[in-house]
Amino acid sequence: MAVQSVEVWIGLGSNLDSPERQLELALAVLQQLALGDSLRCSSFYLSKALLADTVNERNGLQPDFVNAVVSMRTTLAPHDLLQQLQAIETLQGRVRDETTLRWSPRTLDLDILLYGEEQIDTPTLTVPHRGIRSREFVLYPMYELAPTLIIPQFGGLARLVKCCPMRGMKLLKDDRGEGDVESAS
Ligand code: ATP
Ligand code: CA
Ligand code: CA
Repeated sequence: MAVQSVEVWIGLGSNLDSPERQLELALAVLQQLALGDSLRCSSFYLSKALLADTVNERNGLQPDFVNAVVSMRTTLAPHDLLQQLQAIETLQGRVRDETTLRWSPRTLDLDILLYGEEQIDTPTLTVPHRGIRSREFVLYPMYELAPTLIIPQFGGLARLVKCCPMRGMKLLKDDRGEGDVESAS
């Protein structure tokens, strides 16, 4: 019997230890999890950290993030995919303990943005990802790959992009070279 596959979207982010390189390493591993040649990756973007204006003793300074999104097909169940993504984060030096605050600097963050059209709400996994509708570093890269995408619960991606300020986000690397991101509006 053929195993069912599903299209998933994954958000990648890093702001420690050569962020661009961290994303490239993660992409190589994701390529192995993806079915066949289904993986597509957006350009890399340079974005402001969510806590960029909040400096405190434990957080310290928040360097800019390098972000991208990937879409790929997988046969992994949602929680198995989450486990695999967390294993990749750990392999690349992500530290999770009681001293690390939410949104603190990290070598790698891999979030499941979409899992097909499924809506999942468990203690360890919420899909679509809660931050998806308001984060420029997720919406604009997704728009680059799939401008007509409809996001369960939140509607058309194009409309979400139009409502989302870019907060100074810049295109870091794409096939066309460096430059500012074009707004969807
Ligand atoms: P945010 O989730 O706001 O982007 P974060 O990525 O910094 O913040 P983490 O510390 O990486 O948060 O993750 C905290 C927990 O979020 C994880 O242990 C995981 O169980 C849970 N989680 C819930 N939904 C998702 C999802 N869609 N993708 C990844 N992790 C998720
Ligand atoms: Ca995240
Ligand atoms: Ca995360």
